[in-house]
Amino acid sequence: LRHLVLVLGDQLDLEASAFDGFDPAQDAVWMAEVAEESTHVWSSQPRIALFLAAMRHFALALERAGRPLHYRRLDAPDNRGSLAAELAAAIEALRPQALVMTAPGDWRVLQALRKVAAQAGLALDVREDRHFFCSVREFAAHARGRKQLRMEYFYREQRRRHGVLLDAQGEPLGGQWNFDAENRGAFDARGPGLLPEPLWEPPDALTQEVLALVAQRFAHHPGRLARFAWPVTRESALRALSRFIEERLPLFGQYQDAIWPGQPWLYHAQLSAALNLKLLTPREVVAAAEAAYHAGRVPLASAEGFIRQILGWREYVRGIYWTRMPDYLDLNALDAQAPLPAWYWSGETEMACLRDALVQTLDTGYAHHIQRLMLTGLYALLRGVAPREIHAWYLAVYVDAVEWVELPNTLGMSQYADGGLMASKPYIASGKYIQRMSPHCSGCRYRPELRHGESACPFTVQYWDFLIRHADQLGSNPRLAMQFRNAQRLDEAERQAIQRQAQALREADTATCTP
Ligand code: FAD
Ligand code: SF4
Repeated sequence: LRHLVLVLGDQLDLEASAFDGFDPAQDAVWMAEVAEESTHVWSSQPRIALFLAAMRHFALALERAGRPLHYRRLDAPDNRGSLAAELAAAIEALRPQALVMTAPGDWRVLQALRKVAAQAGLALDVREDRHFFCSVREFAAHARGRKQLRMEYFYREQRRRHGVLLDAQGEPLGGQWNFDAENRGAFDARGPGLLPEPLWEPPDALTQEVLALVAQRFAHHPGRLARFAWPVTRESALRALSRFIEERLPLFGQYQDAIWPGQPWLYHAQLSAALNLKLLTPREVVAAAEAAYHAGRVPLASAEGFIRQILGWREYVRGIYWTRMPDYLDLNALDAQAPLPAWYWSGETEMACLRDALVQTLDTGYAHHIQRLMLTGLYALLRGVAPREIHAWYLAVYVDAVEWVELPNTLGMSQYADGGLMASKPYIASGKYIQRMSPHCSGCRYRPELRHGESACPFTVQYWDFLIRHADQLGSNPRLAMQFRNAQRLDEAERQAIQRQAQALREADTATCTP
């Protein structure tokens, strides 16, 4: 055997760089399902099922493409349980001259595979992942010499470099780069009205087999499978893309930040998992949104708002991950040490807004961005949860969770643990923000306007406690000046009442329920 081409669960693309020069007469592909990838964090059942189902469907696509494949199933009696052990055994059995792969999305996995290759005395050819618009090298060049990184500048550079939404003079269409101000709508009291049908397709026989395996083998893992219907093939991902462009993109921009109880999808794309598994390329997704704008089917603010997520945020967080790892994982700028409340894994809390987001997360493996940033993320930030604990939770529960994208979003954007590299300020707010953006508070036992006392909203109590706790460290940030000024106006008795209650909240509900 000349080359053994390694394909991981988030590299399901027949056109990936690992296949350049592939010769079926001399080369073979290797894929392995291993328990460690589902247990190094306590992965949810929907997430495990998505990866396994998509891998098994990709194995069929490789077969159809005539590429010889060595595939290890999780339920094989002699499965060794880790990628490293399985690869070492494959090398022993197949005796390739070299290993080839596309750069993986996870630093830990790259180190593990490098070690196996070195121990076997084999070259490991790690190739550029051209799935992305921007290579890690290009990102490093963008970051070099800048005191502060800001997504907006990176995004403008990307628009220019790739000619996206530009006029004939190379200037942004509509005369501005960013229509964010138009993307902050909330629904009025009547709610979102008739929403497009969810994108989902019922699981086929192969996916059903995986669902049965996961239900049996990972029964004690969080999450539920009854509503599992994520795209697991390129064909179904392409169908999901075209339905999104037709049905949801027109109102995506307007309601990007909205929250509504019992409505997980609203006008969001539900494409992150398909993108992260590489069933779709970001180029085709951006091109589809741009074409819909040029055809007059979607407003510019929606097309731009959506494209900014893919060409801007998604590429930006990847650049941060690969230029900052492995140190990034240990950052904790706010010295947050509290444990994660156990009910993050069950949804059993009296806080109506969090209960809705958590139960939905466990049922579907999905929450939209504002639910992640301004509900589950905000609560952990205000409470002072240790970044490693909340990181493990995000990596475990969402079907789109792969470390390169999850970690900077969690540690950087949502927890401010990198001290401002990703975000120019911590995203902090009290329960009154949630009251403004959703009707959750009217069905909740707490009251968002109360700062302490039995009925005080835990977001609000901890928001004020956060401002008191971090006055020295963050008080000089001009973007937070007004919030800190308001905190200074609290009298001593109120400060003490807030601090006592916040401390009691931090100490409550922390019994662990992970194995
Ligand atoms: P839409 O809201 O419709 O957005 C369209 C696409 O843009 C998404 O499919 C996604 O590919 C991309 N996108 C949007 N925002 C971001 C972002 N901030 N970073 C990277 N890409 C973005 N996204 C993941 O893909 N995996 C994760 O593990 C993940 N963890 C997150 C953790 C936290 C704490 C936060 C605040 C955000 C996280 N995100 C993550 C980003 C974002 O919330 C999800 O990409 C989005 O909710 C996926 O749903 P959608 O496909 O319906 O997205
Ligand atoms: Fe959430 Fe507080 Fe509103 Fe209850 S009162 S729904 S906990 S923001």
